[in-house]
Order: sequence, then structure tokens, then C-alpha cells
Amino acid sequence: MSRGYPSWGRWPRAAQDAVRLSNRFAPLPRFDGHALPRGNGRSYGDVCLDDGGMLLDARGLDRFIGFDPATGVLRCEAGVLLGAILDTFVPGGWFLPVVPGTRFVTVGGAIANDVHGKNHHAVGSFGCHVGAFELLRSDGARRVCSSNVNTGWFAATVGGLGLTGLITWVELQLRPVPGAWFDTETRRFDRLDDFFELSARSEHDFEYTVAWVDCTARGNALGRGVFSRANHCAAPPAANPPREGRLRMPAEPPFSLVNGPTLRAFNWQHFHRAPKALQRSPQHYRPWLFPLDGIRDWNRMYGPRGFLQYQCVLPPPSARDGVRELLDRIAASGSGSFLAVLKQFGAIRSPGLLSFPRPGTTLALDFANRGPVTFELLDRLDEVVAAAGGAVYPAKDARMSGERFRGYFPAWRQFSGFIDPAFSSGFWRGVMQGTVQGA
Ligand SMILES: Cc1cc2nc3c(=O)[nH]c(=O)nc-3n(C[C@H](O)[C@H](O)[C@H](O)COP(=O)(O)OP(=O)(O)OC[C@H]3O[C@@H](n4cnc5c(N)ncnc54)[C@H](O)[C@@H]3O)c2cc1C
Repeated sequence: MSRGYPSWGRWPRAAQDAVRLSNRFAPLPRFDGHALPRGNGRSYGDVCLDDGGMLLDARGLDRFIGFDPATGVLRCEAGVLLGAILDTFVPGGWFLPVVPGTRFVTVGGAIANDVHGKNHHAVGSFGCHVGAFELLRSDGARRVCSSNVNTGWFAATVGGLGLTGLITWVELQLRPVPGAWFDTETRRFDRLDDFFELSARSEHDFEYTVAWVDCTARGNALGRGVFSRANHCAAPPAANPPREGRLRMPAEPPFSLVNGPTLRAFNWQHFHRAPKALQRSPQHYRPWLFPLDGIRDWNRMYGPRGFLQYQCVLPPPSARDGVRELLDRIAASGSGSFLAVLKQFGAIRSPGLLSFPRPGTTLALDFANRGPVTFELLDRLDEVVAAAGGAVYPAKDARMSGERFRGYFPAWRQFSGFIDPAFSSGFWRGVMQGTVQGA
């Protein structure tokens, strides 16, 4: 039985024990078999699950250790939430250089998946801003790793899916900002080509860009959506931050609330309510960067079978045709989600051996778990991604085949040499089936 540590997609389920860590100086607790560090469980699939193993719950490692206001370098424990860093440091004029679409992610989890944000084209991935961290191995060895010291361990642990050891503390470079507000601009676009043009026109002048895409639209409307871009506001308004949303999915419905009719209705309405011409507005960073955080436990709406997220990246030469083909296959299936996201990644190199971000176009969306129909659709999406020379994001995955993984992440063999022999995960066992590790 799962003991209260599901992943965000609530599929698959895992029977695992957990031990809460609270002292970064202590050795790892004893465990039989295998173990896996755990952050805040915001990964959708099985990179944060260890069926039959022991989760090392790092949320209790939640202390700030030091901050240098002259340089913006923060040292904190690995279980600190990104939201706690923002709450503490934004009032003093400091921001995290990279945040994903939720602030309920730990620093350790952000490193282990080398997460990206809406400003990837401008600043790269999370790992680009990590100065150093300590890695604790199951044999008790502690290594401080940075881009100058223990560099192989650094590259293996950034994007290393928690498999190289437990990160105990981290040094992060924060960036100065004028305040908590963003200057945002939004408009809808009618076809996929418009997305590429808007992105190209925005990437030099806007630090943050992202598009919502109507995954139900077909024919001439295929790829239509809403484009948003923003910069930190140079002269923030003297307004209070918006009140935190109190919305919450109160309980798990007996079936998925996301189905063909609700999807089509939501997507149609969301598109048509968006402004036709650019609309400017100042917005507080929280609702703009983390819209889904406004509804607590929204992942329950997919019912007891849970859901799968699919996020891929396609390299520039094949991105336009590849994304079109993906959207076509998704729309034809009648599946998909309220929030399908398109974004251009930039050229800044991610520092991890297994980092997902790379130049190209990334598409992310959820699918209610309808059993074989869903898995067959995702296999068909894989065909497009693999043919385009792209990759699927492990943080969102729970069903990638070993063959696909090794194609997407050719450095896997080099990475294998850094894995802690006592650490494992559902994801890793799945993609390593039939291989001799390190061979
Ligand atoms: C609404 C939503 C939006 C999202 N948007 C984005 C996005 O825009 N961009 C993006 O990149 N991702 C996004 N994600 C995914 C999320 O950012 C990542 O899955 C992130 O890694 C989750 O961190 P966590 O602290 O919850 O870690 P978990 O999910 O618990 O674990 C993730 C991995 O980190 C490892 N780990 C955790 N702590 C440690 C530690 N102390 N030492 C070593 N390894 C550790 C675990 O073993 C596991 O492999 C989103 C997720 C949600 C739910």
C-alpha cells in the first residue's frame, strides 16, 4: 500500500515506506533494500516513487543557512520550498532565477529534475544557477559539488532524478528585482505559425514567454491559443499582493471530471475570452507564474485512476511540423487537458547529464488515465517525438520505454556510473529493464 506519498498524477501507485529527515548532519537512516530521496511529490509520474523501497522524505530539511545580500547567494537545506524562498526574499528585492509552474517544489527536487521556467530562453534551467550542493551517499561519504569541484558528480546530480545520493544543502544565486510585480501582455493567436512568430518576436525583449494552446481545435484552428509574455515590473504598483486563492478540490470524484465535452467547452471558452489584440496589465508574480497553485489539490479532479502528464521537446528544424502532428493526433483522440502549454526553450546549455531542457519547442499537457486507450495515444506521440530527435521529460513520465529513454538521453551510460548502489526509483527500474547497467 502507498503510505501517503503518491506522485502528483496519482498514477502509478507504489507500496513504499518513508522516513522523514530533519537533520542534515545525521547519516542516512538504515533501510533494507533500496531507497530514494523525496521532495514535495510534485513530479507527476514515478521519478519520485520507489515501490518496495524507502523514501527519504527531505521536507524536514527546511532551514535557511545563510544569505549574502552583497552577492545574492543563498545557502539553504534541500527541503526548502521555492515558495518559501520567494515569500522570504521578494520583499527584500531578490527573486529565484528559475521557477517551474508551481511554487510547491523543493530545492532538492528542482535540482534533481533540473526544472525549467517560462524564462528558459533567457536564463536556462535551474541547474545553471546552482553554485554548489552537498551530496550524501549511502556509504556515509559527503561531497561538496560545484562546477569547479567534483564536477562529474555535479553534472550527474543536476537532473540526476535523485539517484546519485541525497542533496542536503544547496547554494543558489538569487537575482535582484524591483518588486513582486510583472508587466504582462496577452493576446490570442489563431494558428500554430502565429505562436512561432510571436515567440521569435518576443524572445529578445521579454524574459518570460508562454502560450496556452487549445488542444481540441482541428483543421484551420489547429494550434490556436493564447500567448503571454512578461518582464519584471521596473516600477511596481503600490498595491497589496492579491489574496491567496482558497479554492480547493474538496474530494476525489468517483470518475474523471475531464472528458470530451468538458474539454471542448473549456477550451472554446478560454480561447474566445482572451483578447484579440495585445492587452497589457501589471500582475503579481504568484497568479502569473503559478496559476494552478490557486486551486489546491486540483489533481483530484481526474478521479481515482489518476492522470498522466506528457511533456516533450522537439528540436528547431522539426519543431513546427512535429508539434502540428502531435496536436493533430491529440485533437483526433478527443483527450487532453484544460491547460496545454507551448513554450520555446532557448540555447543555454543545461548543466546536467540527464537534463531535459534543450533548444526547441516544448509541449506539455495532461491526459486522464483511461487505461490502454491513453497508453496507445502516448505511444503514438512518442513516435513523433523520437522521429523528430526530441525527448520526453522524466519528471512528468511513468511509462517511457527503456529504448525511448536511451534515445532521448544518450548520456545515460555515463550517468549510470554515478548512481548510489542503494538508491533506485520506479522510473529508473522501468527504463533500465533489459539493460546491464554501466555496460
Ligand atoms: C502544477 C505543476 C507545474 C509544474 N511546472 C513545471 C515547469 O514549468 N517546469 C518544470 O521543469 N517542472 C514543472 N513541474 C514539475 C516539478 O517542478 C518537478 O517534478 C520537481 O522536480 C518536483 O519537485 P519536488 O520537490 O516535488 O520533488 P519530488 O517530485 O518529490 O522528487 C523529484 C525528484 O527529485 C529527487 N529529490 C527530491 N529531493 C531530493 C534531495 N534532497 N536530494 C536528491 N534528490 C532529491 C527525487 O528523488 C525525485 O527523483 C510542475 C509540477 C506541477 C505539479
